[in-house]
Amino acid sequence: MNSTSGTLVPSKSDGSLSRLDISKLVLTLTDSPKELPPPETLKFGATFTDHMAIATFNPSKGWSAPEIKPYSPISLDPASSCLQYSSTCFEGMKASKAYHGVDGSVRLYRPDMNMRRLERSAQRLALPAFDGDDVLELIKRLVMVDKRWIPSSSGYSLYIRPTVIGTRSELSVSASDHAILFIIMSPSGPYFPQGLRPVSLLAVGENVRAWPGGTGSHKVGGNYSPGFLPQQIASSQGYDQVLWLFGNDAQVTEAGGMNFVVIIKQEGCDDYDFITAPLDGTILPGVTRSSCLSLAGDPSFQQATSLRLRTVERVYSMQDLTEWFTQGRLLEALCIGTAAIVAAVNKIAFEGKVITLPEHEAGLGPVGMALREKILAIQEGRDEYQGWSVTISE
Ligand SMILES: *Cc1c(COP(=O)(O)O)cnc(C)c1O
Repeated sequence: MNSTSGTLVPSKSDGSLSRLDISKLVLTLTDSPKELPPPETLKFGATFTDHMAIATFNPSKGWSAPEIKPYSPISLDPASSCLQYSSTCFEGMKASKAYHGVDGSVRLYRPDMNMRRLERSAQRLALPAFDGDDVLELIKRLVMVDKRWIPSSSGYSLYIRPTVIGTRSELSVSASDHAILFIIMSPSGPYFPQGLRPVSLLAVGENVRAWPGGTGSHKVGGNYSPGFLPQQIASSQGYDQVLWLFGNDAQVTEAGGMNFVVIIKQEGCDDYDFITAPLDGTILPGVTRSSCLSLAGDPSFQQATSLRLRTVERVYSMQDLTEWFTQGRLLEALCIGTAAIVAAVNKIAFEGKVITLPEHEAGLGPVGMALREKILAIQEGRDEYQGWSVTISE
């Protein structure tokens, strides 16, 4: 079926070909380091650090020695597979600095999950194989080289963008046997310019983000550009993001480039259901989604936050949402993903009607706030939870 189950483990590089070998790393430092911008001026993903990492794959030799070098443009043949046929996949992950009286160590948040997903995405596009653990070693080295770029205020972090592109330079439509893997990094503040202020969603059914048998469960470039026009239309109508629907029954799937969750008061008691769409192949298996599901279902988290939650992965539709809303049971709607962690939704427009959500002074309701605070504390080394936050040693 779909490969979100993790059963399709990519083969390591062919025995006769070189693997991505960190012991061969070639390090070239910039002689003109940039000045660090003030954190409050950072726009998501718009500023890049001094260095990047890069390695190339060629079918006769395998992976080249990885390089860390000054951030610079890449030169590509105009016939390159990635430019012609979108053979490109990527990851989005975070490095944070543990501060606030903690040890100042540099941490990555659940990087193994990003590496397994990158392996699956590359495999789905028939790009050359690599071992995500090798990529992770390269990421760690790059993060340490550009350590001074990790902002040290809460909610700020270094966003890491590993990318793999197909560089076969022939126009015949087939798998790319050449590739470039590169990693760039961007110091980032809150994903939405309004910070914790809630976002509004326009539910869209005529354009779909993903479909059964498609590539929606992979982070492949081709999934995103078809969403730009619907996003532009939503913006022009005053909405922040698109809520992606699927099927004649308007199933609720994802919001923009994030997973989507609703908090529903259970009937006849004060417990809450934490509801999100199941990983049926049309949903991107988010690291944040997985983290929120684990936390929401963890009795110790529930006890510490006085929230009684039941996690539910199920198909639900705009009709369900509308019913829960009219019954007064729709308490919170949340967009969740690495960049924003958790963002509250204040309204959802669908077919001319608007569902409004309760406003909270803090910007997030109790469930969204508890999850966001907990994940931030784990990322920033204030809370050692399940080994999710991995320290990088020099
Ligand atoms: C990356 C992404 C997410 C969120 O995944 P995280 O691992 O939590 O960052 C959700 N939906 C889509 C479409 C995405 O591309």
